[in-house]
Amino acid sequence: MSDPKRVAIIGAGMAGLTLARALAGQASVRIFEKSGSIGGRMATRRIEGVSFDHGAQYFTVRDPQFRDMLDKAAADGVVERWNRDIVSLPAAPERDQRPDDARYVGTPGMTSLPKWMARDCDITFNARVASISGTPGNWAMTTNAGEEGPFDWVVATAPAPQSAALLPPAFVHHEALHAIRMNGCFTLMVTLQPGATPPFAAARVDDPVIGWISRNDTKPGRDHVPCLVVNANPEWSDRHLEVPIETVRARMIEAVCRYIPLGAAEAEGAVIKRWRYANVARAAGQPFLLDEEQHMGCCGDGCIAGRVEAAFQSASLLADALLPALRETT
Ligand SMILES: Cc1cc2nc3c(=O)[nH]c(=O)nc-3n(C[C@H](O)[C@H](O)[C@H](O)COP(=O)(O)OP(=O)(O)OC[C@H]3O[C@@H](n4cnc5c(N)ncnc54)[C@H](O)[C@@H]3O)c2cc1C
Repeated sequence: MSDPKRVAIIGAGMAGLTLARALAGQASVRIFEKSGSIGGRMATRRIEGVSFDHGAQYFTVRDPQFRDMLDKAAADGVVERWNRDIVSLPAAPERDQRPDDARYVGTPGMTSLPKWMARDCDITFNARVASISGTPGNWAMTTNAGEEGPFDWVVATAPAPQSAALLPPAFVHHEALHAIRMNGCFTLMVTLQPGATPPFAAARVDDPVIGWISRNDTKPGRDHVPCLVVNANPEWSDRHLEVPIETVRARMIEAVCRYIPLGAAEAEGAVIKRWRYANVARAAGQPFLLDEEQHMGCCGDGCIAGRVEAAFQSASLLADALLPALRETT
């Protein structure tokens, strides 16, 4: 029997982990992740002892394969339904009536699901892939932690513009990859005074600056400290990506106060995060991008839509297409 094919996956978010799990046992798989943690945009952060999901807020579950995996994750206690209603601000009862998909979250934090998925994965952290060189079947990668390879296949799952910058010109799907458009997002995290109870768990906000407010403490398994996660709206975020972060923070605090008055201490303690690539404005319209000649691929939310579930689907479908090639002997 020939040696298993060596596959390098760039990125340990939902797409990278899904792909690694789908190829497990069929290939020798390594993941390279630029940051020190798992989950990519499924992110949880602690600020002075309070946890905030500052990336994906929740996820939908429509795909049967995704549901199968989540049933197992739920049995292990790392996923739960988040049933609370989402209201509209300013109040618009007619908009609140629209049927919503069931919403799920990781427990006790959004990263709990990717951490659970990563249990048997071989991940090298703090390894930002800077370039890929070589020939099909013999790829090498330069990372800030050193040279890695050779690999038979390389699959990039970074946000589309970052994957586009990494994959060599020979990758046949560059046009589709470059056509993907992503929006930025600023996320403000605010710890409220004990006992504060804004009259909703989450709100879609029709405002020139912000688009979403949620009370992270209403999600299952969170701390009982009232706290807000606020997202700026995509258009405003894009226009402010290069604006000094303190200015952006002040404008977002001002916007939050139109709906929830913040005390001086609450405003002072607010922490902001800038996501240069947060959501997908225009997807590739193809579930994944696989170049069988170059032994290279790309998957992730940018291929389908800006959702956790779409990242899962993109990677699962790429794995289905890749597995027959991995079984071929050389
Ligand atoms: C603020 C915000 C709110 C959101 N809200 C929702 C929501 O409510 N519901 C929903 O379904 N989705 C939401 N999303 C979108 C959702 O988070 C993404 O669609 C999904 O997590 C994408 O997964 P992915 O694996 O494709 O990409 P990512 O999660 O971005 O994973 C890519 C990984 O690649 C790594 N990487 C990048 N470049 C390199 C490199 N050169 N070398 C090595 N590693 C690299 C990154 O560090 C990252 O870990 C939100 C996103 C944001 C930012």
